[in-house]
Amino acid sequence: MKTFLEEVNEKIKGVPIQRCYHCRKCTAGCPLSFAMEYNPNRIIKMIQIGKRDEVLKSSTIWLCVSCETCITRCPNEVDIARLMDILRQMTIESGIGAKEKNVLKFHEAFLSNIKLWGRINEPLMMAQYKLKSGDLFSDMAMGIDMFKKGKLPLLPPRTKDMRTVKRIFEKTKHS
Ligand code: SF4
Ligand code: SF4
Repeated sequence: MKTFLEEVNEKIKGVPIQRCYHCRKCTAGCPLSFAMEYNPNRIIKMIQIGKRDEVLKSSTIWLCVSCETCITRCPNEVDIARLMDILRQMTIESGIGAKEKNVLKFHEAFLSNIKLWGRINEPLMMAQYKLKSGDLFSDMAMGIDMFKKGKLPLLPPRTKDMRTVKRIFEKTKHS
């Protein structure tokens, strides 16, 4: 049976996680580390020592915003942003459930928009997110302000090359 480290390395298909020597440069630059349950280099340590459940059940993997500051700072080019994506996917596949449920709902609304339009339709995406999360009224005032200033077009153009978008979804098996 594969170890958690082997499982992750197989999916990352890049610099293996054991290349990390815990200099903490990633954590020092991460804009979200203050809110994370375990900071980025701690997540790597936990993978190295096989703490599968703790990692997949943590809020950290849902709070990462994929800004890629960590890989820019890492002397060993460990791709933590990609790692967090893989961990989120593993969490869903394992049926564990997202610790930050609304973040998962936001991802689902985002992807469903891309699938439909090839780009983001902000009003539609926000409506989908709000219906999924039940958080109907927060940010309402800001939404109205943005609409008045023409920042939320009701019908933004669709991406011309929808065939490529469709192919990407088929390849990644997102339904
Ligand atoms: S910057 Fe790279 S080597 Fe340093 S702790 Fe982070 S992942 Fe590990
Ligand atoms: S990609 Fe994620 S872990 Fe890396 S610096 Fe940005 S928020 Fe932090």
